[in-house]
Amino acid sequence: MIVVMQSGTPAEVLTAFVEHLEERGTKVTILRTSPSILYLSGQEPDEDNLRANEWVSSVKTVDVPYRLACRELHPDDTVVDVSGIAIGQGRPIAVIGGPCAVEAEDMVLRIAKEVHSAGASLLRGGAYKPRTSPYAFQGMGKAGLVALKKAGEAVGMPVVSEIMSASQLDDFLDNVDLLQIGARNMQNFDLLKAVGRTRKPILLKRGMAATIEEWIMSAEYILAEGNPNVILCERGIRTFETATRNTMDLAVIPIIKEKTHLPIVIDPSHACGDWRYVEAVAMAAVAAGCDGLMIEVHDDPEKARSDGGQSLKPERFQTLMEKARKVAHAIGREM
Ligand code: PEP
Ligand code: MN
Repeated sequence: MIVVMQSGTPAEVLTAFVEHLEERGTKVTILRTSPSILYLSGQEPDEDNLRANEWVSSVKTVDVPYRLACRELHPDDTVVDVSGIAIGQGRPIAVIGGPCAVEAEDMVLRIAKEVHSAGASLLRGGAYKPRTSPYAFQGMGKAGLVALKKAGEAVGMPVVSEIMSASQLDDFLDNVDLLQIGARNMQNFDLLKAVGRTRKPILLKRGMAATIEEWIMSAEYILAEGNPNVILCERGIRTFETATRNTMDLAVIPIIKEKTHLPIVIDPSHACGDWRYVEAVAMAAVAAGCDGLMIEVHDDPEKARSDGGQSLKPERFQTLMEKARKVAHAIGREM
């Protein structure tokens, strides 16, 4: 239940009102001040009694299951600060570029320089890779995180990497600026709770067969633990279509903006699974209003140890940046 107070309600009136509710077993969360907006949970009071209070402007009941992520209770857009790069509505579109996996120290440094000079603002690189086959390259582990951090520092870019287990948390807190929860772990609730207990920015990818509501509920797990720094990332969902690796669901951009206050990043690389389609889908995502892009880049994709087929060579990444920037400007956004 939401109670909107009159603007100009005296502080002592508000305090007395909150005390009165709490004495009766109602939990009061102040969502906003001037005018004050209160979220009431637990023992809900009688609506007529609330309306009888002259300082109460309106009373609404809310029936979305994700009260911390929902737009209704949080009309302002969340902007997440990733070590100096602000991601969210009204901010420049942030581009995360880099290899699927960190393969070696020199490799990630070379690619970092390329994506940085093309205008990316964050560097990605997986150190723990969730591979379908246990025989495929599993990532460099902690050495990969350290190499990624070094490359990021060398070019002055915050870094993004996927955390697969809560046991890796300390290493991620030390080395990574934006913790990615991959599609396969979107409903790993213990992991969501663990990252929720930190204040680190989290990039939460949509599960490959998750509904939008299930995805937002996963964000709610992180928010409910007290971490407000959540960015959503659409990476394509599984459908009957086989021409692409996954199917990019671009409608999520306006839907997420309508239902939540969280920033949304689009990953056309994992959606398409083929470098040939990545540029077009990236431009479409920018046109549709995303807050960021995540693009896989490799300087020798034929020899990549994972996702070579969907990785852009640096010169193609540069072209994508130039074209997507024009689209951003056409809709009044910086990139
Ligand atoms: C990745 O970003 O490399 C990755 C494994 O992504 P996803 O979880 O979306 O498959
Ligand atoms: Mn990948």
